[in-house]
Amino acid sequence: GYEREEAIGKTSKILKSGHHDIEFYKTLWATILRGDIYRETIINRKKNGDLYYENKTITPLKDDNNTIIGFASTGKDVTMETLMHKEMERIATVDKLTGIYNRHKFEELFALESERSRRFSQPLSLILIDIDHFKSVNDTYGHDVGDEVLKTLTTVVQENIRKIDIFARWGGEEFLILSPTTDLENIQMLAEKLRLAVENAPFPKVNHITISLGISTFNTEDTFTELFKRVDQGLYYAKEHGRNQVGII
Ligand code: GH3
Ligand code: MG
Ligand code: MG
Repeated sequence: GYEREEAIGKTSKILKSGHHDIEFYKTLWATILRGDIYRETIINRKKNGDLYYENKTITPLKDDNNTIIGFASTGKDVTMETLMHKEMERIATVDKLTGIYNRHKFEELFALESERSRRFSQPLSLILIDIDHFKSVNDTYGHDVGDEVLKTLTTVVQENIRKIDIFARWGGEEFLILSPTTDLENIQMLAEKLRLAVENAPFPKVNHITISLGISTFNTEDTFTELFKRVDQGLYYAKEHGRNQVGII
């Protein structure tokens, strides 16, 4: 946004956005003063105050004695590409209706947590939730009310789990909670707490719903598929035995 005349004689400080810390600029200067080329996407500020992402390259210029005599800095505005990339990452991570993690992100986080569990010999447990007779909610009140029920359920669960618990929408009206440092006894307590919280929570239009839950705990040799199979069997048990209960495998 600057005219040539406005920019001549000024340093690149006029573009400083305030979005990078001192360490960031320290690294930049250390690189170019060493004589190396610096390449990074940085956030700068236009004359009108707008921020933009710039693919920056700073090349040290040297004389015959290899002494640095200046720097050539070139850049390309990559704001559109960067924002699109960030948005795509968000979409790949978050379930649109409920705002919690989606299936894809859950599997990624499971890989990290199971590795941590193995390495530090800490328990790790899983809960699978399925709403009871959810089809009749949709059939009686319509799909939009069904969607509201899913959102309310998300809130009720969120209010009853810890920050480190990983909560995701597995699909449809099925949810997963991966609970680090939690053994079978404690996951059973959490599952029972969630069951009761949902049973007692007010839901829009439908007033009340119940959930069935399957729980199990991670064994060091488990793949995700094996652990999931057990919580699914637990859920099946809970459904078979009258719903609104926890099935443990
Ligand atoms: P059960 O107690 O055996 O679980 O009975 P159910 O009726 O809940 O049976 P099931 O779990 O098989 O039904 C899932 C239903 O969830 C089917 C589908 O209509 C509904 N559903 C799945 N995803 C969505 C969604 O995003 N929004 C709404 N409103 N309904 C959904
Ligand atoms: Mg289901
Ligand atoms: Mg169901």
